[in-house]
Amino acid sequence: MENKSINKVLQGTVANKGIAFGKICFLKRSKKGLEKSFVQNTNAECDRFEKARLHAISQLAALYEASIEKLGEQNAVVFQIHQMMLDDPDYASSINKVITEEHTNAEYAVTKVAHRFEKQFLEMDNDYMRGRAADVIDISRRINEILMMHSGKLKSKSIDIKNDGPVIIAADDLVPSETVQLDQSTVTGIITTGGSNRSHTAIFARTMGIPTIVCLGDVLSKEYEGLPAIVDGNSGTVYINPDEKTVTRFKEIKRTDDTQQAHLEEFRGKKTFTRNGRKINLYANSGSLADIDLIKASDAEGIGLFRSEYIYMQSQDYPTEEEQFDIYKSVLEGMGDKKVIIRTLDIGADKTAEYFMLKPEDNPAMGIRAIRLCLQNRALFKTQLRALYRASMFGNLSIMVPMITSVEEVVETKRIIEEIKVELKDQELAFKDDVELGIMIETPAAALISDELATHVDFFSIGTNDLTQFTLAADRQNADLGKYLNPYHHAVVRLIDTTVKNGHAAGIWVGICGELASDEKFLGKLIQLGVDEMSVVPSSVLTLRAKIASLG
Ligand code: PEP
Ligand code: MG
Repeated sequence: MENKSINKVLQGTVANKGIAFGKICFLKRSKKGLEKSFVQNTNAECDRFEKARLHAISQLAALYEASIEKLGEQNAVVFQIHQMMLDDPDYASSINKVITEEHTNAEYAVTKVAHRFEKQFLEMDNDYMRGRAADVIDISRRINEILMMHSGKLKSKSIDIKNDGPVIIAADDLVPSETVQLDQSTVTGIITTGGSNRSHTAIFARTMGIPTIVCLGDVLSKEYEGLPAIVDGNSGTVYINPDEKTVTRFKEIKRTDDTQQAHLEEFRGKKTFTRNGRKINLYANSGSLADIDLIKASDAEGIGLFRSEYIYMQSQDYPTEEEQFDIYKSVLEGMGDKKVIIRTLDIGADKTAEYFMLKPEDNPAMGIRAIRLCLQNRALFKTQLRALYRASMFGNLSIMVPMITSVEEVVETKRIIEEIKVELKDQELAFKDDVELGIMIETPAAALISDELATHVDFFSIGTNDLTQFTLAADRQNADLGKYLNPYHHAVVRLIDTTVKNGHAAGIWVGICGELASDEKFLGKLIQLGVDEMSVVPSSVLTLRAKIASLG
């Protein structure tokens, strides 16, 4: 029965933009049968679990095949990863141990182990690994569903939407295999109490074009079941049982959004040109291999900044040459013949990993970081450069080096590159000889000597996030300094201008990959300053391409 007196506004985190209307429908997940019960014959219970585990693996093989078309190979691959997780001896033996030691039913053992693994993932110190917690819950729910189906305790699956109108699915969190099963003709939106906007679920929702808001917290109450709602994926707001005025307002916003989107779609698959015909290379920034589908869906013409330090931050120890090679190769293959600019390790300051055991510094942002750390630690730098050069065979790679302040650093980097090339040749390992080498201009020093630097490299990419902090002496990590951290400040603009002019005078191209590149308000100025390339957040690509076409 609808409760007409409820009228609530909830605030969460945007996982996918867009406006959705529909009735709230909570995902039904039966907890019956999951509670602990005593079993006498633990061997038979372990067999029950084993049968369900094998059944789950074969279901996932079918789901992988079925998802390739819906989500693309890069996303569907999560169901292969799920198969591997189910094959992990640690996972199966932990469950068998609980069954045997506690004389308990398989469903309880599966749930207990799932929560233990989930906790371990959630305690990890980066978003990507925390996002994996959903995967362990996903495979465990699948096994439990199979166990309960086999024993007749469960008649229907959790995704069983009775409602025939447009539906907004509500849940604590959705797991990837639940998301992929959603019928886009019925499900208009997703809202969750938990989750993360970097999880596979969020990536799937984006690929499937379903407006999604996560992290709403416990205010997303079961009493909202069946109530009409609006999901405003532009601001992260959910309106429960909205009044007529709000409905009318959002219908208007959706109409405008749809018209704008249709207009933007006209720019899909096209190159980016200013009104007077100047070509701009419009690329996207990426943090990990998991972003590739998002970037492809954004229609970016390449990757202008791949932050390789995330590979190190997601690792428990120094990633090996082979591990890095595999990732770079997959990124390059994933992007086909499009340009991929991978930035060498920019660890230090706010980006750290424990195993680096960096010495505490009073001012780490101006300390031993990025290229300074790499030049002090040759073996570390060489491992990355070897992996990059070997991967260069599989796509259109450019390499760029962060935090440059002097010509000597560039010369030294090039010397190390020559060394690894000789080594790779001796070892008969293939690489491309002509990989473009660029540097980031993100210190005032680099901008001021960009005329000298330009004669040593193939391109510049201006990192306005750091360039702004160092030019204005305003720590980008300090929220109280917002008003000082002004990228429009004439000092920053002059340094950009100097860099572009010096780059062009030496015949090299100049790009920009800091947040300022995605700022529509500054776009006209950037075009006027003459930048050749912009690397932006993926969701802004079509908007910026359309805007550039009107500027000249
Ligand atoms: C920059 O400093 O502008 C930049 C792109 O690098 P990061 O934000 O990763 O420091
Ligand atoms: Mg930077």
